[in-house]
Amino acid sequence: MRKGAYIALQPFEGVQDGVLRTLERGLPARFFGVPVRGLKPLPIPEDSYNPSRRQYLSEPFLVSLKLPKGAVKVLGVVDEDLYTPGLNFIFGQARINGIGGVIALARLRPEFWGEARNDSLFLSRALKEAVHELGHSFGLEHCPDPSCVMHFSNTIWDTDRKGTDFCGRCRNILGT
Ligand SMILES: [Zn+2]
Ligand SMILES: [Zn+2]
Repeated sequence: MRKGAYIALQPFEGVQDGVLRTLERGLPARFFGVPVRGLKPLPIPEDSYNPSRRQYLSEPFLVSLKLPKGAVKVLGVVDEDLYTPGLNFIFGQARINGIGGVIALARLRPEFWGEARNDSLFLSRALKEAVHELGHSFGLEHCPDPSCVMHFSNTIWDTDRKGTDFCGRCRNILGT
């Protein structure tokens, strides 16, 4: 990783500081020690809201991400419920070896599922999804190990079952 490289964190309006601080603290250790730098929030993309689904389409968020000078990857953070055609919802989306990805926070809160508020659980889920999407952008595909952060989360229980770290196999591919 070149000197001065960083991972850019791109909040969309409405994201609280606590989750950004958690990602700033948690991401470097999982990605070559590269520091994280927060960017100024972007507005929610126009036309991303689907009123009949009461959800936001993820693609316009991905498209509005730009890789700032010196950044190796960019991670968008959206405090809404995102979907993509063919799926009821997504926790995040990224392209393999792309410039970055986005994570959607709405379904990571226990309250969304009718459970008691639990901020530490919420923040650990956010870190898992952030590591997962950035992992894709660094070239990793889904991992069959259910405890690996690169395991696909079909439900929130899959997210809770997996850890915040890469398994040995994924770490080898990543080269950390
Ligand atoms: Zn994935
Ligand atoms: Zn793995």
